Amino acid sequence: MKGKAFCPICGKTDEELFSGLCRSCFIEELNLITVPNEIQLTTCTQCGSIQKKGRWCDSDLIIEEQSAEAILEHVEVNEIVSNAQIVPEIKNIRGSILEFLVKVTGQVLGKEVSQEFQVKVKVDKNVCNECSKYASGYYEAVIQLRADERSLSLEEIEIADEDLRSHLEKLSMENRMAYISNRAQIKEGIDYYIGSYKAARKLTESLKNKLGGIINESPRLMGFDKSAGKNLYRIWILLRLPNFQMADFVKYNKAITQVTGYDGNKIYLVDLSSSERVSIPWKSVGKLEVVARNDEIKKVMISARTPRSVQILHPDTYQPVDIDLHEESPHITIGKEIEVVEINNVFYLLG
Ligand SMILES: [Zn+2]
Ligand SMILES: [Zn+2]
Repeated sequence: MKGKAFCPICGKTDEELFSGLCRSCFIEELNLITVPNEIQLTTCTQCGSIQKKGRWCDSDLIIEEQSAEAILEHVEVNEIVSNAQIVPEIKNIRGSILEFLVKVTGQVLGKEVSQEFQVKVKVDKNVCNECSKYASGYYEAVIQLRADERSLSLEEIEIADEDLRSHLEKLSMENRMAYISNRAQIKEGIDYYIGSYKAARKLTESLKNKLGGIINESPRLMGFDKSAGKNLYRIWILLRLPNFQMADFVKYNKAITQVTGYDGNKIYLVDLSSSERVSIPWKSVGKLEVVARNDEIKKVMISARTPRSVQILHPDTYQPVDIDLHEESPHITIGKEIEVVEINNVFYLLG
C-alpha cells in the first residue's frame, strides 16, 4: 500500500519534504552552524600571542577579541545556509572562562532564520617559546665591541648603547627574538647578548656604520637540537674598532695624515703635507699607524712669514720654528693663532 508522504514531526501532508520533513519542521530542526560548546584558547601571559594548531602567533588583540576570533575559527556553517552572519557576543567572564552568545542569521530555503548558540572559551594562560627563552636569558649571538690596543672611549660606548637601543626597538616589531638579554662591561670592552643571530648581524652592521671597524664572526657548537635535527651554534660577532679615533694622526704609505672621518666602508684621511684627501677601505686599516693623538694638537702664534714658510714659537720651548707652506696651506697672517701638531720633531699646520 502506498500512502501519502507526510511530515513525521507535524504530520502535514501535501508538502514538499526536505530530508523527510516539511519546510517549517526542517528549518526548525536545522542548526545553522556547528560550533563546540567549549573552546580552549592558549595565550602567552607575557606578550599576548596565542597558540594556533601548536604554533605561537603574534596578536595585538585583547582577550575578548581573541576569544571571539577563536570561536569564528571553530564555526562550521551548514551547507544549506547562505549569507550567514555570525556575531559572537561576550556575556560573562568567570575567571579564565569567557561565556559567549553566538548570534547567527542566514537564509535557508528562501527564509531568513536566526539562531543563538552558547559557547564557553577557556583561556589557558601559558608562556610562549620566545618569552620563555627571553625569561631564561637565552641568546643566539654575542656582539663583542672592542678597540684595537686601546680602551673604548666613553663616547663610543654611549653611541653603541644608543644605537643598539634604537635599532632593537625597530627590529623587535618584526622579530620577537630581537632583544638584549645581557650587557656585560668587561675590561676588554662590552659584550651584548642578543636573542636573535639575524638581529645581532643587523645591529653590528649598524654599529660599524657609526663607529667604523672590522667585523669577524666565530660560531661555536653548543649542542644538538633533537627536535630540529640540527647542530646548535652560538655566534660571537666581534666588532674591532680601530686604534685611531676621529682627528688622530696616522701614517699611511709614509705620508702623515689626519683622520677626518669614517663610515661602514671607508676611512677618510687628509695628507698634512699636501692637504690631499685620501679614502681607504677598512680592509687596509692594518696599513695605518697612529703617530699622534688628537689631544696633542696645540695652538701657536705666527711670529713671521715668508712666501714659502711661516715661523711659530715652539709651544714648550718658545724657540722659533719654521714650517714650510704648500699650495693648499691655510691663509696665514702674522699674529694669527693657528693649530699645529708636532710629529717626530716636525710641525704640521692644521686647518
Ligand atoms: Zn512538519
Ligand atoms: Zn610570549
